[in-house]
Amino acid sequence: MRVLILGGTTEASELTRLLAVDPRFQATVSLAGRTANPSAQPVPTRIGGFGGVDGLMAWLKHDATQAVIDATHPYADQISSNAVAACARLAVPLASIVRPAWEPQPGDTWFPVASAEAAAEALGPEPRRVFLSLGRLELGAFAKAPHHRYVARTIDPPDDVALPPHIQLLAGRGPFDPEAETMLLEREKIDVLVSKNSGGAATYAKIEAARRLGILVVMIARPQKLRGHAVENAEAAVTWLEQRRPHRTTCCSARGV
Ligand code: NAP
Repeated sequence: MRVLILGGTTEASELTRLLAVDPRFQATVSLAGRTANPSAQPVPTRIGGFGGVDGLMAWLKHDATQAVIDATHPYADQISSNAVAACARLAVPLASIVRPAWEPQPGDTWFPVASAEAAAEALGPEPRRVFLSLGRLELGAFAKAPHHRYVARTIDPPDDVALPPHIQLLAGRGPFDPEAETMLLEREKIDVLVSKNSGGAATYAKIEAARRLGILVVMIARPQKLRGHAVENAEAAVTWLEQRRPHRTTCCSARGV
């Protein structure tokens, strides 16, 4: 069965690993190309946008794709909307791995905002020491709040973004550790953390560290993300794919034997 995985996340990598060793599936993973050195994938990989809904439809037809798994990040809403439209028009089954959001725990102080721009505004008029744990393209929003001091951690250097003047850049890719995150926030005397509600374990350590230190978290809300059949993880995506395989053997229990 020919499968397209829309990737760029931990779940997509897990699914890719599972399908790579399963002879029932021929998977291709698609990455947007946002990071300069993406981790190597054990299945054929294509990199870069498809060219909107029409481009994605053309790719699916050319590949004779039989199912799509949207395993993109909770904040990647455009590609998900394109996947829903393209799969509906071609009648290709689509499942989406839905990563639960983090919920505030006792001791957390979260200030919800709608966007990176709103987060920059929410920091207020008094100068603060702010840790930005965001994608590099989102850092530009903080140029409009130049009176704060920032520490920003990104996977690739934000060379292509206009940054606020007082910013220290760190390179890093999860998973992160709560002890190290606590030390980082203490060392940099951070008093506000700006984060997306990414969910999952890989980047949760900063939220734990902020709780320990009583640091305010300005939390950027998730966008509305369209989806196909919702599954909760890579294993559930494989089960869903198994049920859609053409010519699969009927199981004895399904016949009531
Ligand atoms: P987006 O806003 O939903 O997508 C913008 C455009 O990028 C899409 O219209 C599509 O271009 C292209 N694109 C996105 N994901 C793609 C994929 N997996 N394969 C091929 N093209 C893709 O997404 P984004 O926020 O830029 O995120 C891009 C990628 O980074 C996603 O794969 C996502 O899983 C990953 N990521 C995102 C975040 C985040 O916070 N947004 C965080 C971690 C990882 P065309 O219309 O030309 O096809």
